Amino acid sequence: MITPIEFLKGVGPQKAEVLKKEVSVFTFGDFLEYYPFRYVDRSVFHKVKDIYEVKGNVQIKGRIISILESGKGRNKRLTAKFQDDTGIVELIWFKGIRWIKSSLDVNKEIQIFGRPSNYKGRWNIAHPEISKISSNQEIGYQPVYPSTEKLNDVGLNSKAIQKLIKSILNQLNGQIEETFSDEMLIENKLISKEKAIRLIHSPKTEIEAKRAKFRLKFEELFFLQMELLVRKKITLQKSKGYVMTEVGDEFNIFYENHLKFDLTNAQKRVLKEIRKDLNTGHHMNRLLQGDVGSGKTLVAFLSMLLAIGNNYQAAIIAPTEILANQHYVYISDLLKSMNLRVGILTGSTKKKDRLILHESLINGEINILVGTHALLEDPVKFQNLGLVVIDEQHRFGVAQRARMWTKNNLAPHILIMTATPIPRTLAMTFYGDLNVSVIDELPPGRKPIKTIHKYESNRLSVFGLIRNEIEKGRQVYIVYPLIKESSKLDFNNLIDGYDSLTRTFPMPKYHVSIVHGQMKSEEKDFEMNRFIKGETQIMVATTVIEVGVNVPNASLMIIESAERFGLSQLHQLRGRVGRGAEKSYCVLMTGDEISNESEKRMKTMVRTNDGFEIAEADLKLRGPGDLLGTQQSGLLDLKIADLSKDYQVVDMARTVAKKLLIKDPSIELEEHNMIRYRLKEILDSRPDWGRIG
Ligand code: ADP
Ligand code: MG
Repeated sequence: MITPIEFLKGVGPQKAEVLKKEVSVFTFGDFLEYYPFRYVDRSVFHKVKDIYEVKGNVQIKGRIISILESGKGRNKRLTAKFQDDTGIVELIWFKGIRWIKSSLDVNKEIQIFGRPSNYKGRWNIAHPEISKISSNQEIGYQPVYPSTEKLNDVGLNSKAIQKLIKSILNQLNGQIEETFSDEMLIENKLISKEKAIRLIHSPKTEIEAKRAKFRLKFEELFFLQMELLVRKKITLQKSKGYVMTEVGDEFNIFYENHLKFDLTNAQKRVLKEIRKDLNTGHHMNRLLQGDVGSGKTLVAFLSMLLAIGNNYQAAIIAPTEILANQHYVYISDLLKSMNLRVGILTGSTKKKDRLILHESLINGEINILVGTHALLEDPVKFQNLGLVVIDEQHRFGVAQRARMWTKNNLAPHILIMTATPIPRTLAMTFYGDLNVSVIDELPPGRKPIKTIHKYESNRLSVFGLIRNEIEKGRQVYIVYPLIKESSKLDFNNLIDGYDSLTRTFPMPKYHVSIVHGQMKSEEKDFEMNRFIKGETQIMVATTVIEVGVNVPNASLMIIESAERFGLSQLHQLRGRVGRGAEKSYCVLMTGDEISNESEKRMKTMVRTNDGFEIAEADLKLRGPGDLLGTQQSGLLDLKIADLSKDYQVVDMARTVAKKLLIKDPSIELEEHNMIRYRLKEILDSRPDWGRIG
């Protein structure tokens, strides 16, 4: 299994090099884990005249009769007419055109394999697989392996890979060791590892392939869950935290006398979860998820009252100065009839005020400090900091930092609020169910935002919508993508948009603000504040406004080039409106022709306002790597399982992993030898990503 890949007959130094570089196959064992990504039933052939009746892939014998390259730049494409004895269908390529063109032979008998689709009334097959007419032995249920251009260049196409893997399997006999105990195999109806590996590479039927896949997915997800649970246990053992046993007068008085509405059930549940954490003696590291406006900040505030009731101070850190100010205003307002003090510390706090603030933090006069991440750099010392709330971002390293703010050596409890929902499977996988709280209910009386998708050619009607809202005394956001703040083209689009707006909505009747990344932060704040105060009716901005500004009077959000934003980002942006009582709208502007995938994203946005549903859709469209960012992406090198689809296997793996740890907490039973061995390998090879805060 650990034999280097060069020793496999048929793999010379050149192929070995490419296998290592391109797909990380170093050993025989690695190659066995290079799984097919699908199978085809190569015994069935279709006729061109029938393809529109077939759902899914078709296989046709015939020949290419002509090839045509057309278009420029992004619209470049290669089309080929493919003919059999019943008709002609178009084959089409958008990528790798040069390479494909050179490999196509006109008038030679070939077979093609691919999925027909109907584009503007015409049938074609995009990026089909092309191969020589198969010899007899290749007919039947066949694995298809992922290949790359470089692999292809050295002759390692799917067929060649299949042959090599077969030859490894022929050499090995009973050398694929079983990972699980007999008991686990029986209880979970799993086939042996040996059998699974053999079947995944050469199943005779779809059912065999499915059983093999299930077993291997289960194993992969089982180790992911074990890793998670074990790391969590280690963290929990290591991390002592302040014990907060009291509810305290502050909480009770506020709750009974000053809270103007009832908490939602979700808010109550989450508060209970937090209260339980604060009481355990372990350090709390909790992620609080909830859609924009679901009442997270209020829950965070109540948690801070709990800390205060136990004679601790609390801090809340916001990602921007504007947000810090908003939190400060919000909290000061909540506290106005209570005998508690809140302070604010940001990058622009004057030195004199800063010194006074330092003084009152160390002597305990200030109960709650609101800050930006500037707070992280400031040499503040608290008398007794017990809880830090972090609003979005800056997840990492805060606990370590916050430890230095206290005279005591324990890190304060950490509560992270995020409005970017992580789908259930991912949350479970990455944080486990120990420390994620979800507010999945909006306060009553919210009117859902109406979302509309408009194409560029309908821009005029959008101007009408803007005018209408402004007539009603409302305000409007117009957001441009500036994915890279340095991109000249994006920047020009923004400025052009601003110019055309100021022409359509001229002074003195209308006032338009603009905020973008190339402005100084004082300028940005100045413009923002004009909009917040209602001095301007339209805010033209880049995504800098994405995080949390609150202008309840804004009722229309227009997102330009919406096709360039991801679903989660669109949802975040949309959340800027719908905060007042009035009906709110979100308009997604896109080019007239957008890709199918973009179309799907727009449809999802129009269909639902539910952040979790959107996050699930996002996961399906983009895959988990993008959702979590680079911090955790190494973990997602899953070979066979797919977190966006295999929910049930995730659930099952988690249950089995938990059960095993109850039966054998230190994983020392002989029947678990292989599990212990493999888990140690995993734990040693990856940095500790599981901790947040
Ligand atoms: P989030 O931080 O999740 O975006 P906030 O805590 O800022 O949400 O709450 C949004 C608004 O809803 C605030 O004005 C808040 O006072 C109000 N709110 C929070 N919880 C409730 C509730 N249970 N009932 C009514 N209004 C609520
Ligand atoms: Mg908020």
